Amino acid sequence: MNTFQDLGLNEDLLNAITDLGFEKPSEVQDKAIPILLEEETDLVALAQTGTGKTAAFGFPMLQKIDINSRTTQGLILSPTRELCLQIANEMKQYGKYCKGLNVVAIYGGSSITDQAREVKRGAQVIVATPGRMKDMISRRLVDISKIQYSVLDEADEMLNMGFKEDITDILSHTPEDKNTWLFSATMPREVAAIAKNFMVSPQEITVGHKNQSTNNVSHEYYLVNARDRYQALKRLADANPDIFSVIFCRTKRDTQKVAEQLIEDGYSAGALHGDLSQNQRDIVMKQFRSRQIQMLVATDVAARGIDVDDITHVINYQLSDEVETYTHRSGRTGRAGKTGVSMVIVSKSEVRRLKSIERIINKKFELKEIPNGMEICEVQLMSLANKIHNTEINHEIDKYLEDINALFEDTSKEELIKKFFSVEFTRFFNYYKKAKDLNVKAGDRDSGRESRPGGGNAARYFINVGEKDGFDWMKLKDFLKEQLGLGRDDVFKVDTKDTFSFFNTEKEHQEKVLAFFTDFKHNGRFVNVEITEDKPNRGGRGRGRRRDDRKGGGDRKRNDRRSSGPRSDSKRSDRRRSDNNESRSRRSDSGSSRPRRSRR
Ligand code: ADP
Ligand code: MG
Repeated sequence: MNTFQDLGLNEDLLNAITDLGFEKPSEVQDKAIPILLEEETDLVALAQTGTGKTAAFGFPMLQKIDINSRTTQGLILSPTRELCLQIANEMKQYGKYCKGLNVVAIYGGSSITDQAREVKRGAQVIVATPGRMKDMISRRLVDISKIQYSVLDEADEMLNMGFKEDITDILSHTPEDKNTWLFSATMPREVAAIAKNFMVSPQEITVGHKNQSTNNVSHEYYLVNARDRYQALKRLADANPDIFSVIFCRTKRDTQKVAEQLIEDGYSAGALHGDLSQNQRDIVMKQFRSRQIQMLVATDVAARGIDVDDITHVINYQLSDEVETYTHRSGRTGRAGKTGVSMVIVSKSEVRRLKSIERIINKKFELKEIPNGMEICEVQLMSLANKIHNTEINHEIDKYLEDINALFEDTSKEELIKKFFSVEFTRFFNYYKKAKDLNVKAGDRDSGRESRPGGGNAARYFINVGEKDGFDWMKLKDFLKEQLGLGRDDVFKVDTKDTFSFFNTEKEHQEKVLAFFTDFKHNGRFVNVEITEDKPNRGGRGRGRRRDDRKGGGDRKRNDRRSSGPRSDSKRSDRRRSDNNESRSRRSDSGSSRPRRSRR
């Protein structure tokens, strides 16, 4: 194995490498750096996340550009703002001894004029997201006509996110004779097409074993509070518009519950577990195979026979007690040479179980962040834009065009586009604009039982019925909702005891609740409800209870309770709980094979 010196890097870079504490080159660096330093060539490099790709293109780029010139010579395109900033930062560190070097990051969601000013000061290297880059080019705020080296980092991701047109457009503003270095974790057809169309006999390097099936799966975990599990699941789904996934729960009941909840929230989901009849299971599997269901929620036992290729994500909603089970779960994706992601949603107390799994799969989990609301909005918007762009026109529309055109006579194309996208975007935006950060930071305590944000506005009640009356917390919750005519998330923190129970509602319902129970009889007995000071988190009451997850599930959506999800629409009401055991999908509303997109 080479040292960094062996690779031919100059003193300034070697000094920075020493400072960074890199001892020896990673495999992709070892392979790519000498080629890029010695030759003027295009390159395709395939390597998994975390293999050190940034340095593999960063060092050669820094060594080859002319730092004494202020012309922009290097352009790195990357899919997200986060990565863009990360790469720019790394580049600055790599180049800390390169006097006069200016690396500028260009990305959406931040002042374009500030970024333009930075570029104008003379940036030899620009790291950009495609959308903002294109914007700046069209406003003539950057000049990339002298680019010598362009990097497409995470090319597969950029294409996934619908940036193909932007990339094409951006590259058309760069010189023909520049070199293009493409880095990607996978090589789907679209990436191969880019390589073919925009590169001149690129050299190829591959790191790791491309076709070994287990290597096609990346393992990620998301650290959240137990009570935020379901919210986290929804965000993961929303951040991956084309998700085709199996979601694993531990019990039949959770499986059913999560599936129902997803359906109610407007996702195309279905449940698969042993309490369903064979016929019901067959129907669900058929729907899943034909993609009418995008999210199949399953128990381990029921999922055993699933032989569906192309599953993009396996989501471990809950880890199994058996460590070995993880291998079976994650093996559902990354089949037939495809890549896949196995995600685990964990709370703090479960994190250490990942270690034992890591030993078995002989791979490391990567800690990822649950995307925030705006990131999801961005992904959804780009995905929609991409889809519209690729839509074949249905000429059945033609006969209505006259009327439609009349309506939009005074609307400019620009305005029309804005309006059109707002229809979809506003739904997500409104849902997510106040969404909180679900990620638990390393130092945080597991606050699975803590009251939720806004909990200060809740009223807590005592009620004189309990388990002796045949209620468990779920039954009581349903009973209360039904009697009071309240919505699904309006009754929460239901706690049943032997002969009495507690529950919460928002303060705004307090009057109604108390009024209702002034003379209400259940099984011939007067039911008494009164406000109580009992705080569910105080003292030792909660300790040792085994219900926390269930409770978390039960009132999981209070945070977003005003609307059940960005995907819900007025059709929600046609989903009745009575057909519990059947998987349903919104697709049946539209007959389209891409259900979530055509849900109105
Ligand atoms: P990728 O782009 O392939 O996902 P990165 O370039 O982001 O990977 O690198 C992952 C991490 O490894 C970064 O924190 C980076 O600083 C570090 N790293 C990169 N190269 C080396 C090396 N040769 N030795 C030690 N750490 C490295
Ligand atoms: Mg990278």
